[in-house]
Amino acid sequence: MALLEVEHLDVRFPLRHGEIRAVRDVSFALDRGERLGIVGESGAGKSVLAFSLLRLLSRPGRIARGRVRFEGHELTRLSDRQLRRIRGNRVAMIFQDPLTTLNPVLTIGQQMIESLKAHRRISSRRARSVALQKLRQVQVSSPEQRLAQYPHQLSGGLCQRIVIAIALLLDPDIIIADEPTTALDVTIQAEIIALLKHLCEKHNVGLIVISHDLGVIGRLTQRLLVMYAGRIVEQGPTRAIINDAQHPYTQGLINALPQMALPRQPLAQIPGNMPSLSQVPAGCAFHPRCRYRLTPQGQPRRDCSERVPEAVVSGESQVACHWVRELIATLPIEEEAT
Ligand code: SF4
Ligand code: MG
Repeated sequence: MALLEVEHLDVRFPLRHGEIRAVRDVSFALDRGERLGIVGESGAGKSVLAFSLLRLLSRPGRIARGRVRFEGHELTRLSDRQLRRIRGNRVAMIFQDPLTTLNPVLTIGQQMIESLKAHRRISSRRARSVALQKLRQVQVSSPEQRLAQYPHQLSGGLCQRIVIAIALLLDPDIIIADEPTTALDVTIQAEIIALLKHLCEKHNVGLIVISHDLGVIGRLTQRLLVMYAGRIVEQGPTRAIINDAQHPYTQGLINALPQMALPRQPLAQIPGNMPSLSQVPAGCAFHPRCRYRLTPQGQPRRDCSERVPEAVVSGESQVACHWVRELIATLPIEEEAT
């Protein structure tokens, strides 16, 4: 049994006129110790998906359909109390800006000890020694001294290490990290990625990491979900997707990455913008931006603007594109010719 199973999840935000369907028919599973990435441009519904897993949606968001199971327990049906226990103890969250997680008026030591004592019957002395141990695990220098400091006295990178230490305090089974490195300098980003990867491997912690940056996710995860306008458009092993993306949207994301674009191809942004989640185009939501919605002869391809694509297996991925098999069969020749 997978540690976490998500089936046909639908998340909606009712509006005065109509509603926003932020997550549409999303299914995936996470095994113990597995590192999974969710990638897509901002506004794709990634954060809403992550929040909905633990029923942390802000109002009036609600799960309209689908299941989320943790170790076989249906999270959508648990009482608030049962859910709080899982949230604190078993699943930890890390957010983009460490300063939103850390309390500015408490020292690092106070916050770490408080969060331990909120969930465990533990003496302050013992809590302090656990806090020190976690600070050492995240490779913070002079941990004793850090306990007495306030967040504003520390750099952004150091704060994010401390947020990770707090996430580890209760020995979670899963860490959900929403853009964990976006607020940091590039060199610090690389250190945080290496640290998260090391900690998850060493302690067999599952990781769900959300980012708009395929470069970050590519280095950190084993499996990848690519989201577009609330849906998963491609899902498969990270390495396979990066080397051989199947969905036209994923190909566009990879081509836009300086370090990953094919050498002979110019760096290319995907034209246009992600649609607003309240106005998702009919059919394949990506069709207004897709270079393959027309045939080489300039004819619209059947179904692209009419039917939502079902996921099919292509390469090592599951891909929601009506034409992926035909495109993959013809694409390499087409690219070679240019
Ligand atoms: Fe492009 Fe059509 Fe595939 Fe959508 S279904 S990605 S529009 S080819
Ligand atoms: Mg987000």
